[in-house]
Amino acid sequence: MAFRSPRNPLVIIAFLFACSATTAFAQPRAIYQQTQYKGQEIGTLTGDVYYARMDDYLSVFMVTPEGIVLVEPIGTEFATWLKGELASRFKVPVKYVIYSHHHWDHGSGASVYADTARIIGHEAMMKRLAMPPADTPLPQNVRMQDANGNGRIESSEAQGNIKTQFALFDANRDGVLNGAEVTRGPLAFVVPPDLTYTDRVTITLGGKRVEVLPRPTAHADDNTIVRFVDGTNVLFASDWITVRRLPFGGDVATRDELSLVKTVEGLEFEHFVCSHGMLGKKADVAANIRYREELRAAVAKAVAAGQTLEQAQASVTMDGYKDWEFYEQQRPANVAGTYRALTAGR
Ligand SMILES: [Zn+2]
Repeated sequence: MAFRSPRNPLVIIAFLFACSATTAFAQPRAIYQQTQYKGQEIGTLTGDVYYARMDDYLSVFMVTPEGIVLVEPIGTEFATWLKGELASRFKVPVKYVIYSHHHWDHGSGASVYADTARIIGHEAMMKRLAMPPADTPLPQNVRMQDANGNGRIESSEAQGNIKTQFALFDANRDGVLNGAEVTRGPLAFVVPPDLTYTDRVTITLGGKRVEVLPRPTAHADDNTIVRFVDGTNVLFASDWITVRRLPFGGDVATRDELSLVKTVEGLEFEHFVCSHGMLGKKADVAANIRYREELRAAVAKAVAAGQTLEQAQASVTMDGYKDWEFYEQQRPANVAGTYRALTAGR
């Protein structure tokens, strides 16, 4: 294994302190993305590998006689529930928690497992979690919220995401957000990994291997996919490869992104789990690639016909994907990002 132990004692102590009082659930399920998928449940994928759901969010874990390997803690409330379920159903401790990337809605809550588990994340997580210098000003886009002009955001001033995720931004738990906390993001419940990697690593537990495969993407430079091998054939990829759901944002059909998704399709697996929505199979990854390729071709055609961005957004309707989730929300962004990628440098 090629793990490193990124020890910054000051950071670790600060995080342990911050996470010792999370039982009141500053991260209620309601602040997470909501879709038609509802409820908390555990279900079987194959013999030893299971999924766990919190509403739209999915994690995956493998049970062995020596313990459990879990991907994606999701949040403090969910992790607390799942830890209890795992203990009563399987009677073995969680030995490893693997982060897919640092975003709060996937990476929060790993500290719940810290009494028995090593927490594993990409080296690039460390700089994402690092607190910026104390004199960092409030970002421009939230300065309007600072009604009294003291350079900080009190809870009475907070609006929008800053309000609903106030506790997630407030890393030092002093009830006020400074520029550094807002700039870093809502990461108060994402603890740094105990072990980091930059190249692929393999974890072996109970005689079964789990491959941890870094795949930096436009979505996250610490993005990692996880493949459960030795007869289990499950692949987990967070956020970026979606199942019967339009991919998120603009960078979905660039050459780099397409070739990255294709390298994932080239791996050996049967079950495919994105961190959101419905469970998938390998064919769903192929369908995701097909969508991106058809989108790229359709936008290229619109560009060649001299269409403006607005005209392309109206004409590239991707009709074959109208029954995919997030069609209404993401199609315009998918078209726009692809249009910009295809016309960049002209
Ligand atoms: Zn994400």
